[in-house]
Amino acid sequence: MDCVSGMILTKEGMEKGYLIYSDSRIVERGKVSPPIRPKVRGYIIPRPINSHTHIGDAFIRKKVENLPRDIEKLVAPPHGLKHVLLEKADRDEIICGMKEKLREMEKTGISAFCDFREGGKEGVNILKKVLEEFNLKGIILSRPKSLEFDENEVLDLLMISDGIGLSSVSDWDYEEIKSIASLAKEKGKLFAIHASERVREDIDKILDLKPDFLIHMNKANQDDLEKVKEEDIPIVVCPRSNEFFGLKPNLELFRKVGIELSLGTDNAMISSPDVYEEMVWIKRNFEGFSIEELLKMITYNPGKIFDVKFPEFVENEPADFVVLDTKSLKPILVSVSEADTP
Ligand SMILES: [Zn+2]
Repeated sequence: MDCVSGMILTKEGMEKGYLIYSDSRIVERGKVSPPIRPKVRGYIIPRPINSHTHIGDAFIRKKVENLPRDIEKLVAPPHGLKHVLLEKADRDEIICGMKEKLREMEKTGISAFCDFREGGKEGVNILKKVLEEFNLKGIILSRPKSLEFDENEVLDLLMISDGIGLSSVSDWDYEEIKSIASLAKEKGKLFAIHASERVREDIDKILDLKPDFLIHMNKANQDDLEKVKEEDIPIVVCPRSNEFFGLKPNLELFRKVGIELSLGTDNAMISSPDVYEEMVWIKRNFEGFSIEELLKMITYNPGKIFDVKFPEFVENEPADFVVLDTKSLKPILVSVSEADTP
């Protein structure tokens, strides 16, 4: 039997207490002092979700020493360096980069991640195959191979993935993007899109697509955010990736408007898939966010978007949790129940 103690994060909030667990199951949860000596003390949280990755471009980091710090030049399809290199790369090279990043996530206790997968159907199949070796839930949002709408291709993509994740409205013909979004909704799948990352985009057009969530919104103004709030659409932010391009999300404004935030790490060639680092970044750069708010951005908030159920930390539940150091916000203990293996 093992024990961890500290502050336990549940849906209702943070609560002082301890967990005793054995054979991948919680044996006891208590509020006062633990009856056995805890292995570690810290913030005890459900295994986190990384809400936004592009792990397919991890291999580029090794290939190009100085990546251009310009969104257009680096990541905009179809001519950004990333897309040119992805097109030319061989399958094994991409797989090797992916595995490295998946291993990093697995080691740090991540339970699920949402990847915006490039490369059409083949892109989805590569990631699915690689994931068979990992104890990680991959929520795969696919996209057409080119910036053109082909109904059959989109229907196929929706069959093999969890939905569609597109670059931005600016890259597409609006009517075509609308057709893609409505097909995703028709099939009961997710639709998400990067929005106002480098330039402010028309929020009415974006919201007409009925996205399940938006990525970035760095250049959104208060009006834009209020409209997003009105539609109850969550936003995923990736501040370390933004910083690479000299951008910064206005998190004080997001908070003031009451946007529900989740955190992602964006392109693997730019940032490691370490979602804890995003919390650390926010803590360092913005005042006013409580620890509980930050921890929810990597657990319960994305849990709602991706319909992930977390253990309730009660007797007999799987012992699935991570304990974070209260200063560094980095994991000091990862407990993964075997029952949880997909
Ligand atoms: Zn992205």
